[in-house]
Amino acid sequence: MPNLEIPLAQISFIEKKYLKKLEQLGTKTVRDFLHFFPHRYDDFSRITKIAEIKEGETATAEGKISEIRNIHAWKRRMAITEAIVEDKSGSVRVIWFNQPYIIQNIKKDSLVRISGKVNWDKKGLYFSSPAYENARRAPTNTGRIVPVYPETRGVTSKWIRWKISQLLKKYSPEIAEVVPNAILKRQKLIGAREAIEQLHFPDSFEKIKAAQKRMAFEEMFLIQLVSVRTRKDWENSQAVSIKFDEKLAKDFVESLPFKLTDAQRKSTFQILKDIEKPHPMNRLLEGDVGSGKTVVAAIAALETMMAGYQTAIMAPTEVLAIQHFETFKEIFKNFSQKVGILTASQCRTVWKKNTKKNFLGKIRRGEIKILIGTHALIQKSVEFKNLALVVIDEQHRFGVEQRARLQKAAANLKDNLKSSVPHLLSMTATPIPRTLALAFFGNLDLSILDELPKGRKRIITEIVTPTNRENIYQFIRSEIKKGRQAFFIFPLIEESEKISGKAATEEHKNLSEKIFLNLRIGLLHGRMKPKDKEEIMAKFKNKEFDILVSTSVVEVGVDVPNSTIMVIEGSERFGLAQLHQFRGRVGRSEHQSYCFLFTDSASANANKRLKALIESENGFALAEKDLEIRGPGQFIGKRQSGLADAAMQHLSDVKLIQQARIEAQSLFEFDPKLKQFPVLKIALDKFDKEIHLE
Ligand code: ADP
Ligand code: MG
Repeated sequence: MPNLEIPLAQISFIEKKYLKKLEQLGTKTVRDFLHFFPHRYDDFSRITKIAEIKEGETATAEGKISEIRNIHAWKRRMAITEAIVEDKSGSVRVIWFNQPYIIQNIKKDSLVRISGKVNWDKKGLYFSSPAYENARRAPTNTGRIVPVYPETRGVTSKWIRWKISQLLKKYSPEIAEVVPNAILKRQKLIGAREAIEQLHFPDSFEKIKAAQKRMAFEEMFLIQLVSVRTRKDWENSQAVSIKFDEKLAKDFVESLPFKLTDAQRKSTFQILKDIEKPHPMNRLLEGDVGSGKTVVAAIAALETMMAGYQTAIMAPTEVLAIQHFETFKEIFKNFSQKVGILTASQCRTVWKKNTKKNFLGKIRRGEIKILIGTHALIQKSVEFKNLALVVIDEQHRFGVEQRARLQKAAANLKDNLKSSVPHLLSMTATPIPRTLALAFFGNLDLSILDELPKGRKRIITEIVTPTNRENIYQFIRSEIKKGRQAFFIFPLIEESEKISGKAATEEHKNLSEKIFLNLRIGLLHGRMKPKDKEEIMAKFKNKEFDILVSTSVVEVGVDVPNSTIMVIEGSERFGLAQLHQFRGRVGRSEHQSYCFLFTDSASANANKRLKALIESENGFALAEKDLEIRGPGQFIGKRQSGLADAAMQHLSDVKLIQQARIEAQSLFEFDPKLKQFPVLKIALDKFDKEIHLE
């Protein structure tokens, strides 16, 4: 095992110039390289008699080189190498383009094996630039099922195969078995070493399948072990009991301008019951966009505050933190000096800006009872007097690793409650498909808001092609005339806020100067200063803008009920869950709302996605659909996305996930410290660190 952690830099047969490129592919150690799996396979396993080779096929032949020479085709500025290969049944031409060095590698009269496409020209059949190798050597690039790797510039599959075959020769005895034997047997899985060998140099497609299934199981098994272990630790720790003050909750609910939905009532009750226990709550509140999660969290925060303890509410973006701050200020009017906001750029209570030092003091002394903010909340400098409840809003936005880190941070947050851990309420509007929920949230209790507040109208959703745009612009003008407002969303281009911010800026100009001449248009993007963002959002809320042009920063949680139009540019570039989130920004008032999906693309899959959005308004149904269309990758964090696509497919296999969970649970029951499984223990601790910490 330790040997596999050798850096590739120390492997003599891996030339220095490749190290950087390999690193770009995410491989630094021998282990990484052996876990760099092919993304597909070419079947070159069947050797065909030369006489039976047909035009158009991809074939493999074996024979003697009876002739080989370089021809220079001056006109096309191309070097052509032409050879003739013969076996007992006949002979065939072979042509390589621009690889004149081949004649150094293949000599006349040598035995070769070639695999490639067979074409036809006026001189007859020929192999066109086939893969080739010495027929006396073990099949690596030809004459077998050949692995094809995700390539990067200058690292070809051929090179990778060659290096992996060398590595396997030397290190395959060191491949440790992580999964206990009894489990391998029970689950009918092949061993680690065989699986890794088969993934790189498979004997058959059945073997590939078996190997992929095994690797997927291992991954899922480790995820489940982490999850079960975290849950056990969590259950064994202590928390402050927040006595359920029923009258307080009732009075508060009655003061609200609306009636809670049944789902809100039920979830609130579950949460208040949980935080009454002397063990920390670890609950996920899952509810579609607009289902009213905030007020549920607010009730828990209120009970906590009145019991004398502190609550921290963490949001993924500054915009959202500010919005929560405004909401809480409003609903907790009587206690507003006890509500504070802390982000990278600001700290204040309701009226007053504070110096940071002053503000941190207020938290430490427990004067601030409800602290809202971004990641800034988990900085070392933030010390609470008696933090008893942590709420993580839009937790799906934090990513698997960050989420785990927040959870750990929440557990470790310094306060004078000594060994007690705060109750944790996570909230998400991305409904995870049921099939995957167990895998990722198996360690959480679930509360579900599966109904929207009454009186919401169905949002009319339409795909808008370029020819139809002008009509829609016209329609938007008329809606704005009636007093409504609109969002225009632009996609993140190349994952960079910088570039998409620029695109949004240009579009803002275009919309204001060419399309909506007399309207007031605001601009919001991730690169703006938080203060400016806040100002823009406030102005939009106050109806000082008719239209807000934005990058996807508005995706999460922004609440402006008067806006009834959501235009999504380049809609084919967004995932279903995200589109659903955008759409959820409108439809929050008694007015009819619209979602326009602008697209230039006719790509079938994208359209499938857009159509699914039109057909359903239910986040859970859409999540299932997304799983079906895009596979489970998007629901899974970075660590796991290193899996080969095909192995990934197994992760949507509910049975595999369930089995992995059952095995993980019974293993911990049998041997809680994993004393009898040292190899697994090491792998698990490493895995835990990888998914939990950056
Ligand atoms: P989300 O679940 O997406 O976070 P919010 O908590 O932002 O939703 O709530 C969306 C909007 O619905 C807010 O304006 C909120 O005041 C309102 N709301 C919440 N619960 C109800 C309810 N039971 N009836 C009517 N409106 C509600
Ligand atoms: Mg929300």
